[in-house]
Amino acid sequence: MVSEKKNSLNNFSIFSGLSQALSSQSIIDVFVVQGLVLPADAEKIKSRYQNNLAIERFLLSNKLVSREAINKAYSIILKLPFVSLGNLAIPEEVLKIIPEKVTRRFLVVPFNLKEKILSLATGNPGEIFLPQNRSLEDILSAKGLKLELFISTPEDILQVLNRGQKTRKGLLLSKGSLPVIFLRNRNIEQKYLQLLPLDFMIKNRLAIFDQTGEWNFRIAEEDPYSAQTRQIVDYLKKNNNLDFEEFSTSKDDIDYVVSLYQRGSEAKTEESEQKEKGKEETAGAFSNIVSSLVSENKPGLTIEETAKTDDRKQTKTGDIETAGVSPKGKITREEEVKYELEESRKSEEAERDIGKLLGKTQIKSLEEVEEIVKENSIPKLVAAIISFALSLGSSDIHIEPEAKRVRVRFRIDGVLKDIIQLPLDFAAGVTSRVKILGLMKLDETRIPQDGRFSINFMDREVDVRVSMLPTVFGEKTVMRILDKSQGILSLEDLGFVGSAFKIIMEEIKKPYGVILATGPTGSGKSTTLYAILNRINQPGVNVVTLEDPVEYEVPGVNQCQIKPKIGFSFAEGLRSILRQDPNIIMVGEVRDSDTANMATHAALTGHLVLTTLHTNDAASALPRLIDMGVEPFLITSSINLIIAQRLVRRICLKCREKVDIPPALKESIKEELNTIPRVDKDDLARIKKEIQFFRGKGCNECTEGYRGRIGIYELLVMNDQIENLAVSRRPASEIKEVAIKAGMLTMRQDGILKALDGLTTVDEVLLATGEIGVGNVISLAKDHSQKEPEVARDFKKYPLDLASGSPASLRGKQTEAKARAKLEAEMKVAKTNPAV
Ligand SMILES: [Zn+2]
Repeated sequence: MVSEKKNSLNNFSIFSGLSQALSSQSIIDVFVVQGLVLPADAEKIKSRYQNNLAIERFLLSNKLVSREAINKAYSIILKLPFVSLGNLAIPEEVLKIIPEKVTRRFLVVPFNLKEKILSLATGNPGEIFLPQNRSLEDILSAKGLKLELFISTPEDILQVLNRGQKTRKGLLLSKGSLPVIFLRNRNIEQKYLQLLPLDFMIKNRLAIFDQTGEWNFRIAEEDPYSAQTRQIVDYLKKNNNLDFEEFSTSKDDIDYVVSLYQRGSEAKTEESEQKEKGKEETAGAFSNIVSSLVSENKPGLTIEETAKTDDRKQTKTGDIETAGVSPKGKITREEEVKYELEESRKSEEAERDIGKLLGKTQIKSLEEVEEIVKENSIPKLVAAIISFALSLGSSDIHIEPEAKRVRVRFRIDGVLKDIIQLPLDFAAGVTSRVKILGLMKLDETRIPQDGRFSINFMDREVDVRVSMLPTVFGEKTVMRILDKSQGILSLEDLGFVGSAFKIIMEEIKKPYGVILATGPTGSGKSTTLYAILNRINQPGVNVVTLEDPVEYEVPGVNQCQIKPKIGFSFAEGLRSILRQDPNIIMVGEVRDSDTANMATHAALTGHLVLTTLHTNDAASALPRLIDMGVEPFLITSSINLIIAQRLVRRICLKCREKVDIPPALKESIKEELNTIPRVDKDDLARIKKEIQFFRGKGCNECTEGYRGRIGIYELLVMNDQIENLAVSRRPASEIKEVAIKAGMLTMRQDGILKALDGLTTVDEVLLATGEIGVGNVISLAKDHSQKEPEVARDFKKYPLDLASGSPASLRGKQTEAKARAKLEAEMKVAKTNPAV
């Protein structure tokens, strides 16, 4: 009983109560009472149709009663008021409480908000018992709101929603749009409110309510687009050297913070009076705002107000001292650690500067590596390996001890290649050197270790992430190269063209929802998200990312590194960043149901969420998320766009030439091109009249005729039909079929079009998409070409075999013992001085 009572305080026992009423009473009885249906007919209908929804459908399809009459009947049996929304003016901030996608789906509209009670009208009262209402519960309870239900007609509700959409679009066009914030359910500290004088706040209807950085504050504005507000905000920024993250808010919210401010000021006055003496100097940013307001007599401030402001300045000073906030002198522990690390790294800089260490800027050939090996210096050898890997554009370096040698492989354009084979006695030295660089434990060889370091290469800083794994032959090292200076590629650079580009540009304008990039590891998903992030990252938008690892640094974005080992997982991180009130969230990867649920939840509560998932194609993402335990309805309501992708190698432009393909393949490609949906004219324009493919012959600038990579994509945009399939848990193949009918270009089609453009080869596309008998097709293609392409660079002579003693000159006259002695000496240095 007690728990039931407690429950009834919660909005959503509303739904369970209503479901009971719905199952025990029939709307048909209302019509009998009203004389619309004869009692005998009612009995027949009731015996034939088991529930109200079925009865409703029967009555409507036979045009026995109107929709309005049905909803009024529901209002009687559910004891909920019937409301006609007609011309009711609904504030934008109320409409925004529930994402539009959800309101349309449920046919509900929030129309009033008073004291945390949200009035919601439903046009589909017969469905309110559906379990999907739990998502409404999620949305509203996240905002601390209670619910009051009303019944209306679907026509009324759609009218309101369409009207709202118009004003929303109008706003976007004319003024840009600020995120809405509700101050009433926030914990706001006095010290922020008091940054501005009370009367100034009352008069100009704005309030500073939070701080996001030393000189960054958040400000809520009742009338953000008025000239007055614009002038004030610009003024505050300029004269105090501050930055604001701006939000629009309601009149009630400003009234609320005003009362909060007043209460705070009263309470603090006595206390502060004692503290204020001689402490003005500590006020920092706060007094700057006030003093600039005072001294320059800014717009909106009268002389009277200025005087009051001056008084308040004193009060404020006291508060700040108590709070221990001194923006200028504030150094967090994190910054301290960072500083220390940087200092200690400075001393090692020479060691980490590849150019200085090797005496040359770059290692470009195997011969040069050979020369370095002869010098028998382990630090130089490691530097040479990294330098050579960078020159070849590798993304990873694998150093693998085997029974008789150490194998060094580079991953270039996604393919692992054998590069060097070192004698086994180099293994320990190389591993130790990498451990020293990566600040890892030298004496730990039995458990996996991770580390990272940065090096200078050709005047740029390159981050290297190290992972070491014990194997039977010793520790295997993988170094992942993160070349931040390469910058973030644009969507165009990544190969988004035609409809794909247009769709992305459209979808990133939406204020909430999930954009999902899918594909296997190494398919470039996160690169795509970075490019999107870079497009939408603007001042005034709070972007937070959770990544593992942080691959690129994006200015102005709060990037967080996930540390699952210490409990900072994606799900945990997401939970805490939601409290930071971001607009846009990037979550590196959805790996578990926790993260999946939180990401969809975040999207439904008004955030734009960018994330990735491992699936083969776009359509499979929906069943995958459902398998992860996310309510299908939540998925379809929150996901806006699914991008599936693969990376294919780009043909080297320097040695590109035309290539013939077998007639059979040509035919199958023609067929494929014919199935391209006739929806987007840009996509159709990409289809060439002549089917001509290309390849790289191989030259000294490329690897096997390829240089760099480009993405091939398929973009699945949600529509009603796809949503229905997903909700009814239909297989991915059916979803894909529907998406193609709606105009989706598949990855393979996009790839073929790129091959026709001479960007990649048809082999690459078929390999990457693996949809037809790849082996056959490729061998056919090869048979048909006149001659085997010359292998580019000198990859044919790779790997350089130093382990078996050839080339003989390699180790010169140095004896093994001599080499070992040198190595041991080096190790000694390393051990005694880990900072080397
Ligand atoms: Zn080439």
